[in-house]
Amino acid sequence: MTIVRSRKIKMLAAVLLVFAIVAGVSTTMNKKVEAACSHSFYVQVPTVYPTCTSTGSAVRVCADCGYAWSVTLPKTAHNYVRVTVCSPASCTRTGTEYCRCSYCSATCYRTIPATGHQLYSVYRNGHTEWYCAICNQRFS
Ligand SMILES: [Zn+2]
Ligand SMILES: [Zn+2]
Ligand SMILES: [Zn+2]
Repeated sequence: MTIVRSRKIKMLAAVLLVFAIVAGVSTTMNKKVEAACSHSFYVQVPTVYPTCTSTGSAVRVCADCGYAWSVTLPKTAHNYVRVTVCSPASCTRTGTEYCRCSYCSATCYRTIPATGHQLYSVYRNGHTEWYCAICNQRFS
């Protein structure tokens, strides 16, 4: 219980320190190194948010010893949106669409999944017949 409480206080201190570093108030960054600490319990605050074209960065402050260091944040995924349909999907066949990222100029081709048959039934001559509304194929 006391360990948990002291960790909470350390955590709060680390949060304050990381914001001080980000704001340029503190200069603790990379100065204090304690060899015995594994810096596994830390607070992370992004300083540069990553985009789909560039990596970001963040400041981490160890909640146990106060050691601060910076890390690179990976690029985010492209947000692809459809530009044109190259070949439309059918009931049984996949289609292809041409896409462009809404944030940058990246483009790609994507597979449009097959729609699957859209079945409807007709009651005729004492039994039920099943048809696809798209391709008109009869199933029974
Ligand atoms: Zn540490
Ligand atoms: Zn992009
Ligand atoms: Zn069909």
